[in-house]
Amino acid sequence: MISLHGLTKEFPGGVRAVDALDLEIADGEFFALLGPSGCGKTTLLRTIAGLETPTSGRITIGSADVTALPPGRRDVAMVFQDYALFPHMDVTANIAYPLRIKKVPRAEREAKAAETAARLSLSELLARRPGQLSGGQQQRVALARAIACHPTVFLFDEPLSNLDARMRLEARTFLKRLQRELAVTTVFVTHDQSEALAMADRIAVMSAGRIMQVGTPSEVFQRPSSTFVASFIGSTPMNLLPGVVKDGALRVAGAVLPLPAGLAGGEEIVYGLRPEYMDLSASAREDAFAGRVSVVENLGTSFLVTLEVTEGSGEHLVQAVVPEDAEPAPGDAAWAVPRHPRALM
Ligand code: ADP
Ligand code: MG
Repeated sequence: MISLHGLTKEFPGGVRAVDALDLEIADGEFFALLGPSGCGKTTLLRTIAGLETPTSGRITIGSADVTALPPGRRDVAMVFQDYALFPHMDVTANIAYPLRIKKVPRAEREAKAAETAARLSLSELLARRPGQLSGGQQQRVALARAIACHPTVFLFDEPLSNLDARMRLEARTFLKRLQRELAVTTVFVTHDQSEALAMADRIAVMSAGRIMQVGTPSEVFQRPSSTFVASFIGSTPMNLLPGVVKDGALRVAGAVLPLPAGLAGGEEIVYGLRPEYMDLSASAREDAFAGRVSVVENLGTSFLVTLEVTEGSGEHLVQAVVPEDAEPAPGDAAWAVPRHPRALM
């Protein structure tokens, strides 16, 4: 288990890359740190690894306070975004390197390297140098190097970001299976929300050095706690519309919607609904957003439809994902009908 208590890292010049973070990561968990570029993900990971000294706060791994321990004594293995392989060493020497640092005898570390390489389908490549490997192979060598010394924690900094789209999908499944098999607590940094949703047991969504929300993929997807999380998660952006509670109903962009429990009259809310939970109707209804089809985008097995919805003097854009047999035409009048679940902020 990893615990962070009030962890802060401030760089000279006053940048607070990590700002008073509290976080608990469970034993064996696959935990994703997700956030836009510059929000402090790498700094947080490097601080857990011991490569950065926190300005304040504490880090414990298991029952040990590791805040003041050097990286080599934390029993963590980090895989960097650029893999950081040694270009002049062959694959065996790269994988065995951390064991060499730990003064494991040569024969033993070479056997261990060969065994780990076999597990990652690298046996044919043991004598090659990193320059003679593809991106995906280099990535597996970096993984093998992390695995070979049986750490208690894996720290991954965007390990898939240098792979092309197809390789990235394959590597995602591979890495997930490997982590399950080894059952090692893993902190996985990514700016890619689909990667975090697909792989993680839980996700922390970060912004400007702080954690905005922690939850399972379905929690952060279905019940984002802020408009920041709502707009960051999801392959299509969430519809976010201003609304008000009036006369026992929720009034949002001209639609009159059933009132969720616990809301009192007069309250102003932000109504959030994913385009995937919006149906499109060709006939008028009160509990729908009335608009005109502006753009239809082909998503492969479905269409993303953008409606221009006019309400009084204001205009909103409302998006719905519709099945491939229900493609509307630009200019059509249409009603976007919300289905549950939806989020209120
Ligand atoms: P991410 O990995 O989420 O993209 P980083 O942790 O790399 O974010 O950076 C977080 C913030 O800290 C950024 O504003 C970045 O410019 C700053 N930063 C990172 N490393 C340093 C450093 N060594 N010195 C000064 N500022 C840094
Ligand atoms: Mg980074």
